[in-house]
Amino acid sequence: MFALVTRFNADSDPIKVNLAPGTYKDPEGKPWVLPALQKAAEILLDTPTYNHEYLGIQGHLEFLRLAAQLTLGSSVSAVASLQTVGGTGACHIGAVFLKKLYDHTNKPLQVFISDPSWENHHAVFQHVGLQTRTYSMYDTQTKELDFVAMKATISAALEGSVIVLHACAHNPTGCDPSPEQWDELALLFKERELIAFFDSAYQGSIETFLRGDVQLLVAQSFSKNAGMYGERLGALHVPCPTSRAADHVVDILKAITRREISTPPRFAADLMTIVMSNPELFQEWTEDIRTMSNRLSDMRKELVETLRRLGTPGDWTHITKQRGMFSFTGLTAAQTRYLTDRCHIYLPPSGRLSVTGLTRLNMGYVTKSIDFAVR
Ligand code: PMP
Repeated sequence: MFALVTRFNADSDPIKVNLAPGTYKDPEGKPWVLPALQKAAEILLDTPTYNHEYLGIQGHLEFLRLAAQLTLGSSVSAVASLQTVGGTGACHIGAVFLKKLYDHTNKPLQVFISDPSWENHHAVFQHVGLQTRTYSMYDTQTKELDFVAMKATISAALEGSVIVLHACAHNPTGCDPSPEQWDELALLFKERELIAFFDSAYQGSIETFLRGDVQLLVAQSFSKNAGMYGERLGALHVPCPTSRAADHVVDILKAITRREISTPPRFAADLMTIVMSNPELFQEWTEDIRTMSNRLSDMRKELVETLRRLGTPGDWTHITKQRGMFSFTGLTAAQTRYLTDRCHIYLPPSGRLSVTGLTRLNMGYVTKSIDFAVR
């Protein structure tokens, strides 16, 4: 992905279109600072006591309390939370934590990752010495979630295995289980004593797993939903049976952090604390998220509608059924190569199209080029 971006940047043709970005772009294709976060920054910089002192090892405690409440609700009484370097850092610390626990038991630990998944997942878990495997979840024919296969491969995992789940807006397929299917999965996890590792890069709900008393971890990112990509704000949450257990887990997480980064970055944690603790700003943030989500939905609809009008061969309706920032278009590696090499339209060979790269201005050119590539 980074190589593709380098090629895009080096391309001097003004027609070029980047359909690979992992960061939200506004209707003109520009980065967007969320107004709620902009206001929080103004409040923060106007605060006379504002300073750049280190946070504690665990991070910004009020941020962590509010972040945990946001993702777990208020019914969880004991939770170990740690501020991390983005969602990637949360996945990493979660992986180190699991590795340490299992090294003590001498039991082999297997981590199951969806096929396909965010391209970094296997690397992040393998990097700390864990073994990764895959579970099925995607039907390449229908381009929809293959829930039967998902359940079958997850059921076959050994008891105590860790299953990495995308809390919502699955990257790269855009296919999520329905609420009823999440309920079924929670039952299955409980029955098979599986550990759910929720990668919540886009802030999904994990309520049904909490109600089902499933052992879980949540790697929460504020990159996409608050537009703070480069500020690197995330959190790892581990719900625990008692506050004593939670204190113990926090100690372990702090020991890991101390050795890796000593203390997490401060600025974005200060901003997000202002947003989450101020009802008006919180409301505005919710609306900002809706603005992003609505634009992505509109672009999906327009893409499908324009391809339909052009009579482009194939059924493209899966694009509007999928959710989130990405669409798994079904374009082949050869077709994406044609788009990149001949049309200056950049997207990876998997056919994963970043919907946020589409605008009303480039829609005509992109759809005509897809039409050429497919025929
Ligand atoms: N997990 C998934 C599923 C993602 O899509 C992403 C971002 N593309 C991340 C983790 C990484 O998030 P962050 O940028 O906060 O590290």
